[in-house]
Amino acid sequence: MQANAVPGKYPDDCGPIGVYVHIPFCLSRCDYCGFVSYPFEPALEAHYVEAVIQEFHGLRKSLLFMGHSFPADLDTVYFGGGTPSVFNPESIERIIDAIKRTFNFVHPMEITVEVNPGTYLKNEFLKLQEAGVNRISIGAQSLNNLELRSMNRRHSAADFIRTFINARKSGFQNISVDLLAGYPGQTLSSIMNSLEEIIKLGPEHVSVYMLEIKSGSRIENRIKRTQDEVVDDDLVADMYEAICEKLCSKGLEQYEISNFSRIGMQSRHNLKYWTDQVFLGLGLAAHGMTGRTRYSNVVELDRYLRSTLCKESVVESLIEMDPLTRFKDAMIMGLRLTKGVDLALMSYQYGLDASGIVKDSLGHLDGAGLFTIEDNTIKLTQKGRLLSNIIFSQFI
Ligand code: SF4
Repeated sequence: MQANAVPGKYPDDCGPIGVYVHIPFCLSRCDYCGFVSYPFEPALEAHYVEAVIQEFHGLRKSLLFMGHSFPADLDTVYFGGGTPSVFNPESIERIIDAIKRTFNFVHPMEITVEVNPGTYLKNEFLKLQEAGVNRISIGAQSLNNLELRSMNRRHSAADFIRTFINARKSGFQNISVDLLAGYPGQTLSSIMNSLEEIIKLGPEHVSVYMLEIKSGSRIENRIKRTQDEVVDDDLVADMYEAICEKLCSKGLEQYEISNFSRIGMQSRHNLKYWTDQVFLGLGLAAHGMTGRTRYSNVVELDRYLRSTLCKESVVESLIEMDPLTRFKDAMIMGLRLTKGVDLALMSYQYGLDASGIVKDSLGHLDGAGLFTIEDNTIKLTQKGRLLSNIIFSQFI
């Protein structure tokens, strides 16, 4: 790989940052889940909120060393999980208030909370609004009750519809819905029926995730026992193509491998990941990127709670981001976007020969129909999006 010694002018390390807050608790375990999540116990809620706030104060001090003068600007906060909506809206508000006391909230702010169907009613949505939350992401996964049961989801299709309507009636104008594709037993018509029902509700944003069999998940064990359950690759490809076409025809434009939105309603927080911008991760197993370093937090709940109580760091791993490391990460994330990656801009920002590195890394895949390079911009094709891991692994 080629790299010259000129340090890059990174994308926007001095612009507004984002904060991700991980709430690692769930009411039960979904069969496909490979995330860090613990059974929810109400007694833990206040401790965990306190721990996140303590962690934030510790990080705030280290932020002083990363080139952000205080008070720094911030324009996105994202509560993900786990299931953030097992917490009371007041707990979410406490964390937002702690962040607000340190950062300038820059207009337009985007504050998202992931909500599982059936966990919040209208009253909770109203309280979230009062706390400043203005975007809701609902994990529907399917609107087929048989599929939901097979996934071990706790909710029904009707619970999802009620939750969506409650969020809308409470005034949320930016609602995203998650759908899971390629689940054992799912058919092309069942997933398209689920999608039709979601579209009828008029969400501003839809995320469609293709099932990944995570190591240690219950579905992995199930598939090992009954080989015939796996959805074959051709059917997954057909599902993906049909979903993209349907969403596009309904005005939800694809802007990322798994994400579709109405004009101007893209997830601004997630765009920070895909465009190599600075974000902080708070909470158990959270990740962050400060510009100079990429870090991830401990994954053991006891350790996280104990360390924050003792005002010790909860960072488990830290990677220094030299220009080449950061460039490769930026390629992997940037190629997820349908607009692709501008290689001339990348060369300027990272002080590297971006075209040369791409040629060295992907040259042997030329002609496989996975990507195009035109006007110095590299983009994945539809086939490339389906097989994106092949492309991304070339930059690791
Ligand atoms: S709600 Fe999400 S994090 Fe919780 S068990 Fe299900 S998939 Fe895992």
